[in-house]
Order: sequence, then C-alpha cells, then structure tokens
Amino acid sequence: MERHLSDKVKKFVTETVGKENCLFDEPMSEHTTFKIGGNAACFCKPRTKAQILALIRFFYENDVEYFIMGNGSNLLVSDNGFDGVVVQLLDDYSDTTVTEEGDVVRVTAQAGARMWKLGMSIAEAGACGFEFGTGIPGTIGGAVMMNAGAYGGEIKDVTESVTVCDRQGNEKILKGGELGFGYRTSAVSRDGLYVLEVVLKLQKGDKEKIKARIDELTEKRKSKQPLDVPSAGSTFKRPEGYYAAKLIEDAGLKGLQIGGAKVSEKHSGFVINTGNATAADVIALTDKIKEEVYKYNGVKLELEVRKLGF
Ligand SMILES: Cc1cc2nc3c(=O)[nH]c(=O)nc-3n(C[C@H](O)[C@H](O)[C@H](O)COP(=O)(O)OP(=O)(O)OC[C@H]3O[C@@H](n4cnc5c(N)ncnc54)[C@H](O)[C@@H]3O)c2cc1C
Repeated sequence: MERHLSDKVKKFVTETVGKENCLFDEPMSEHTTFKIGGNAACFCKPRTKAQILALIRFFYENDVEYFIMGNGSNLLVSDNGFDGVVVQLLDDYSDTTVTEEGDVVRVTAQAGARMWKLGMSIAEAGACGFEFGTGIPGTIGGAVMMNAGAYGGEIKDVTESVTVCDRQGNEKILKGGELGFGYRTSAVSRDGLYVLEVVLKLQKGDKEKIKARIDELTEKRKSKQPLDVPSAGSTFKRPEGYYAAKLIEDAGLKGLQIGGAKVSEKHSGFVINTGNATAADVIALTDKIKEEVYKYNGVKLELEVRKLGF
C-alpha cells in the first residue's frame, strides 16, 4: 500500500526520536497482542517527555494524523494499516520511582510502564492496593485512559494525579474529580488527552500477603482466560446488569468462528486469533455476536477494544 507521509514529517520524527527509534512501514501485527494489523506508515518510540511534546506540537501545527498507543493490548488495527504516525509509549518511556511517607507509598511512573512491572515494584515495596492490576497486560497510560480494572479493583482507586497533555501539546496535572473516572472511561479518554505520567497512592501492607494475592489472581486468570493465544482481552464492555461472556454463551455463540477469529471456548468474552485472523474477520465476528446477542435477549453489546485505521 502507498503511504503518504511527507519527507518533512519523516525527517522531523526521525530527528526527534532518533533513527533507531523510528520505523517506516511497520507491521502493527508486531505491536498488538491480537497479532493483527497492517502497516503503520511510521512507528516511533519517544524516550522523553520533551520528545513526546515536540511530536504532538509538530503534528498539531502540521495537521499530521497520529495515534498514541501503549502495549497494544486493547487494540484492533485495520488490515490496511494506518497512514499516519503511531507513537508508542512503552519500555523506552517507563521510568518509575517509589517513595514512602509513613504508611503511604507513592509510585510515580511514566506512561509506558507496564502494569505487571509496576505491580512487581509495588509488591516489592510492600504496598497494597495494586494487586488487581498486575495481570493486566497493558501500560499504566493505557490503563488510566480507560480506567482498567479487574477482580474488584480499578485504576481510579489508586490514582492520585496524572500529568496529561492535550492535542496542542499543552501540559497539565489532573487530580481527584478532574480525572473523571467511570466504568472503562476517564477524562483522558473523554477529552482526547494523553497520559504522560501517573502518581499512584498506595498503603503499606504485608509483603507476603500482597504477593500471595497476586499469585492467587494470576492463577485465577490462567484458569479462566485464554492467555496462550493472541487476543485483546475482553472484547466487549460489560453491559450494566449483565456479563458479556454469559450473554454470548447464552446466545449459543461459544466457539463461533469466522475466518481466523473465534469466540474462545475457555472464556466467551474473548475473541481470539487462531493464527491467521484478519481485522476483517474480527469485525465480522463481533458484528455477528452483537446481532445475535441482541436478537436473543435485547442487550446491545459495545466494543471495549479500540480500533485504529478503519
Ligand atoms: C489477555 C488480556 C487480558 C486483559 N485483561 C484486562 C483486565 O483484566 N482489565 C482491563 O481493564 N483490561 C484488560 N485487558 C485489556 C488491556 O490490557 C487494557 O485495556 C490496557 O489498559 C490497555 O493498555 P495498553 O497500554 O495496551 O493500551 P493500547 O492497547 O496500546 O491502547 C488502548 C487505548 O489506550 C490509548 N492509550 C494508550 N496509551 C495511552 C496514553 N499514554 N495516553 C492516552 N491514551 C493512551 C490508545 O490510544 C488506545 O485508544 C486485557 C487484555 C488482554 C490481551
């Protein structure tokens, strides 16, 4: 496919993040846990806040299409890829510091810090409250954006403040009610902001108990979720008063397959890639699921997975 990024854009991105952190025509299937997606015209990995802000301001001033991502664990990229610049905030932008003040433990993390690594540092510091997040395979930036949650915990419970920037590259700090957390949503997603840095506030606890809780939740995940095959986790949001997996199962859709995309036999809330699924397969399958669930019990399912390039 022909890509249309101008030389000016290519030069700016390369010079800003460095040649080694800038790729062209990069397959997004390499950067999503679904292992699906065509090429991004440009894929870059900034290492500092200054680089991120410089990119965003340049994109704004030059009307360049771009997309900020983390670990790609909640992302479906189109088979045609994405004609703009993908900016990935992951390991290259993931510094984390832990400080203690009496019983309070604060963790400051750059947006690209992986949830499991953060969980390990927090457990090591003997702080509790983040055990739920350790098994979520994304970044803290992605998790804050959608108020990720599991096993009764949500990011909103442990977030003290978030440094964000807007589409013009203006930086600000959001605290308390300004974060606007709701079920799988936040002010970050509603206002189209980007997470740069997060401060988590946790309490001192018993290290052994914290580690035991993490192990317990890890085992739970392994026994209930198809973690050995590519997916983007729960495909649909939980409709109020229901569980998406149960609705899908009740409608008789467990194991349903279109092309290489399949409703997991282990957890009906997960659409999995059996090996050669295309984004079109996933869309056809999720459309079918929505239609059948609606027919069966009148509930409208909504995708939790974010789409890029459609
Ligand atoms: C096996 C599996 C299990 C999962 N279990 C859970 C679970 O228990 N609970 C749960 O909530 N989710 C779960 N997920 C989904 C996913 O891990 C979370 O949604 C996670 O928060 C996504 O983070 P990410 O860094 O991978 O984001 P990406 O997938 O890279 O991006 C997702 C969205 O976040 C945006 N985004 C990413 N980084 C930033 C940033 N710095 N600033 C602003 N926006 C940003 C992107 O633009 C995109 O819209 C699971 C996924 C898998 C594959």
